Amino acid sequence: MKSLVYYSRLSLLLLFLLAGCSSVPITGRSQLALIPSSSMLSMSFQQYDEFLKTHPLSKNPEQTQMVKRVGHRIQKAVETYMAENNLSHTIDDYRWEFNLAESPEVNAWCMPGGKVVVYSGILPLTKDEAGLAVVMGHEIAHAVARHGTERMSQALLVQTGGLALSAAVADKPETTRQLWMTAFGLGASVGVILPYSRLHENEADRLGLIFMAMAGYDPHAAVEFWGRMAQQKKGGAPPEFLSTHPADKTRIQNLKAKIPEAMTYYRNAAP
Ligand SMILES: [Zn+2]
Repeated sequence: MKSLVYYSRLSLLLLFLLAGCSSVPITGRSQLALIPSSSMLSMSFQQYDEFLKTHPLSKNPEQTQMVKRVGHRIQKAVETYMAENNLSHTIDDYRWEFNLAESPEVNAWCMPGGKVVVYSGILPLTKDEAGLAVVMGHEIAHAVARHGTERMSQALLVQTGGLALSAAVADKPETTRQLWMTAFGLGASVGVILPYSRLHENEADRLGLIFMAMAGYDPHAAVEFWGRMAQQKKGGAPPEFLSTHPADKTRIQNLKAKIPEAMTYYRNAAP
């Protein structure tokens, strides 16, 4: 006969798992979130400041302004979208920031709390403002859907067996930092590349298209951008961005299928 202790342990575990679940805005998929949003944000703001201190920013004023302009327009779109869907509370603590780093790396990312970095090395591939909106919309969508938190929670669960997660964060700062880097697409710098899953990529593509469309950018630019990324793959080592965001035929077909939904937002976007 199973003892009372067994059942109380089981219910504790269930409670723990329930508490560690939240759902993705828009799609409503439930996801693992073992780290409280407040901890994620304070880690994010710290890591972002650290990044800015140790990496030079672009000295090109036009390109820097373009990154900030596109970022602010997408930020507005996200805020509108979340307000319309009664989800504003999920981005209340965001402290949006958009910076262009001077680096040949083909990369871009958004940490929790709206902390965005675009690397100048990706600009030849984004080509114009709409192309940049594709990348920034997609990265911001990963953050809004809390994919990084989910990736980090999964990694922590594997590493610690689901026990004392908050302790792991506090006691193993180096492990935590590396998990952070890989979870947010900065893996190249620590030598570990963890591609986003197809599920995450699909969600970020769908949301990203909606956000860029609401910001007034034609979502068709996404098909062109990912086509150019796929071309890149053919010559030599793939850029960082491609290692975390695989570009293939299936992805581009899925993107095309998502354009009509995004176009309904584009037509309603303020000029
Ligand atoms: Zn992605």
